Amino acid sequence: MKTFEHKDELFDVLMIRNYSACFFYDVSANQSDYDGNIFDKKIICIDCADPIANLLLSKNVNDSDKPAIDEFYVAFKKAIQTPCEEKYFESLISIKINDAFVPMSLSIRWINDENGLASKIVGFIVSIAGYAAGKPKSNPELSGKRPFPVETVMERMMTTKENYAIIQFDIVRFKVINEVYGEEIGDAVLENIRRNLTAVWGRDAVTCRLGADIFAVFTEYSNKNEIECRIKNIQDKLQNYNDIKYKFTFGVYLVTDKSIKLRKMTDLVALARRSQKNNAVQTIAYYEDKFSDELYSRHKIENEMQNALETGQFHVYLQPKCRISDGEIVGAEALVRWIHPEDGIIPPDKFIPVLEENGFVENLDEYVHTSVCKIIRKWIDSGLGAVPISVNVSRVYLNKPNLASNIKRIVNKYNIPIELLQLEITETFENDEADLAIQRLKDNGFTLLMDDFGSGYSSLNTLKNTKFDVIKLDRGFLGHSMLTERGQKIITHTIAMTNDIGLEIVAEGVESNEQAAFLENNGCKCAQGYLYSKPITISEFEEKAFGQAIVKI
Ligand code: C2E
Ligand code: CA
Ligand code: CA
Repeated sequence: MKTFEHKDELFDVLMIRNYSACFFYDVSANQSDYDGNIFDKKIICIDCADPIANLLLSKNVNDSDKPAIDEFYVAFKKAIQTPCEEKYFESLISIKINDAFVPMSLSIRWINDENGLASKIVGFIVSIAGYAAGKPKSNPELSGKRPFPVETVMERMMTTKENYAIIQFDIVRFKVINEVYGEEIGDAVLENIRRNLTAVWGRDAVTCRLGADIFAVFTEYSNKNEIECRIKNIQDKLQNYNDIKYKFTFGVYLVTDKSIKLRKMTDLVALARRSQKNNAVQTIAYYEDKFSDELYSRHKIENEMQNALETGQFHVYLQPKCRISDGEIVGAEALVRWIHPEDGIIPPDKFIPVLEENGFVENLDEYVHTSVCKIIRKWIDSGLGAVPISVNVSRVYLNKPNLASNIKRIVNKYNIPIELLQLEITETFENDEADLAIQRLKDNGFTLLMDDFGSGYSSLNTLKNTKFDVIKLDRGFLGHSMLTERGQKIITHTIAMTNDIGLEIVAEGVESNEQAAFLENNGCKCAQGYLYSKPITISEFEEKAFGQAIVKI
């Protein structure tokens, strides 16, 4: 291992040796203190107080790559102060060395401490073009090392009479291997894949490790079936190391337009690979144009979200919850809408998943929770009445230790009776941290609603010892199940059991009188859905619930 004092020295080495570099930054120590032993000799640790700022935001990075890195860095800086989901960033970038841009594969991630605050950055930078940018300085010690042959790939792709494809794969939850077996074994797993990849692919292809746990194959092929057979071979032979078993996810880009730059193609195949991160069944994704659209809107959302929050583009709508017997409004759910100055109303399904991934959803949730407390305060002060409003708490926020105290602070600030602000939480799989957070909310006196019950992970089993007070029956579950006798039985029994253990139930997505009647006959008293009302603005809600809009105060 070697520690560099100046980035130029590092760049020289990257150029000459086609080596990888690793950098490490510890916020509290304000310096690198990485144990270099865990990396093999090819990885160099560079030591600079603020590596991303010093190294990557420097003038050496190509202008077009700066915004993405900048974005990561800004998010990281923020995450040092405010708890945020750990973020991972990987991209092909180019760095200027000796007046030429050299392609590098960059992967950076930050690691949170036990308070959920960003505390460390680990990054890898791997030169994939090696000598491509110019004549290397001679270094006999390293002769024989082969740089990534960009030119060979390009030439083969351009001249072949066959089809050409780029395949990328990574290990699902590689982090777990490092945690369970130690990083030395983790490294051995990666090295084993790198060493055997060409042979296992079984065709004269260019293969490489792109950085972190990501591998790539640049290959000719005759048809899709051939690619899938070869991928199957990789799955059979390389998805285990000694006794350790793991899984890959594959992205495939079939080259149709050879005028696209190699770097861009690698970005596209990465999009395909990442597109099925949460898909347990499928393991191969082919690039489709829609991924680029998604990338565009993701970028747009991430670029604009902060400003949107600051300039009041997020609006709280309320959807009534009604007593089935007489249709009386007994509560509401707060649902957020992004009213964009150019694009109009953007529904939450479009942007919440992006905000959940980058951690910003916490800020949005806090904004919604504050807005709702203000509304309730206004209702109480008006003397016209007040009904409880439930707010959604993102799962991302749920894992943050300060959740309960944050919400409690808002409730206290507006002096809201705690039963009027209710919390909707989607239970996913059992998880100690989430359990603890739920317990903390309960201890603080909040009414808890289990959202989307029957849609996925939740089951009757989860109800036995639940800390929730209310079950919200998922609308999908209701729609499909109602059609069959068996489905109806499940609903009937769920309602019966829920009543039996003293939980309340609210049915979501009730659209027809038949559904409402069926629910009521089986003991469900409360419903929410288009039959009663869509989510509406606050003043529309006030008109419906209290007979008049309450003047803003
Ligand atoms: P959700 O919590 O399950 O909210 C219910 C969704 O069902 C809402 O979609 C609502 O408009 C829709 N819906 C209500 N009644 C009917 C019906 O009769 N038929 C049909 N087809 N749909 C109905 P919406 O407003 O688009 O919100 C989607 C999801 O976005 C919400 O699902 C929730 O998970 C999330 N979300 C919304 N606002 C927030 C928020 O402030 N914070 C967080 N973290 N998530 C939010
Ligand atoms: Ca909800
Ligand atoms: Ca729901």
